[in-house]
Amino acid sequence: MLDRIRIVLIGTSHPGNIGGAARAMHNMGLSDLALVAPRCTAVTADSVSRASGADHLVNGATVNETLEQAVADCTLVVGASARSRTLPWPMITPRDLGVRLPMELADREARVALVFGREDSGLTNTELQRCHAHVHIPTNPDFSSLNLAAAVQVLAYECRLAWLDQQEIPAEGPNQALATHAELEHYFAHLERTLVAIGFHDPAMPRQLMARLRRFTLRARPERMELNILRGILSDTDKLIPERDSDEGQHHER
Ligand code: SAH
Repeated sequence: MLDRIRIVLIGTSHPGNIGGAARAMHNMGLSDLALVAPRCTAVTADSVSRASGADHLVNGATVNETLEQAVADCTLVVGASARSRTLPWPMITPRDLGVRLPMELADREARVALVFGREDSGLTNTELQRCHAHVHIPTNPDFSSLNLAAAVQVLAYECRLAWLDQQEIPAEGPNQALATHAELEHYFAHLERTLVAIGFHDPAMPRQLMARLRRFTLRARPERMELNILRGILSDTDKLIPERDSDEGQHHER
């Protein structure tokens, strides 16, 4: 189970934090580290020293250009956030996360990503909206932001507790394979194209429509089969949309 939990660090600027995160992971038995557009060199004297014997995790980390690449094969993506955002998203505690993990990972192909943001600015709203849920580590509200590696430590510890618990009780998994992040993103892109084509969605006046549809869909945790049905509906809808020679008349009044 621990092999299928990925720690994703976005835009990290201090090599020491990458080393510190690797140490926290190795202490708790996690091994899958992915960096997204790091703003520093990952392997430095500082990161090796902070890794304190876990530098093989730093050396083995994948380096990705985008969050999408880093989590494409994951069935659950959870973003760690120190602050609440304007559009509330399903919010879980580190303990809730631990409780969910055995179920989430019961299917051998399932993978979970825990996504952490930049030291100075955290995760962007766009990045957070790519997550099924957000996890907030309860802290002093007047001083809520943990050091990046410390935040990794807290969540990695909950992963370990969940794994230890699970050694005794075999968990039952979901019956059907859940959709991966990449499949969900293809669906959202298709949905947006079709909604624009039928005049329901105007990208010039988005009114959070796509974000709200994302939140709704991600809350439902669709299975691959269910997503295929939705995409089938979109494809049949596309066939009913008359071909247009020009852009004229694309925007209908609602
Ligand atoms: N100054 C940033 C916080 C950066 S801390 C901000 O205001 O958003 C770096 C990362 O550590 C955060 O992006 C988040 O992923 C994680 N983190 C720090 N404190 C956290 C907390 N209390 N709960 C959950 N994640 C936290």
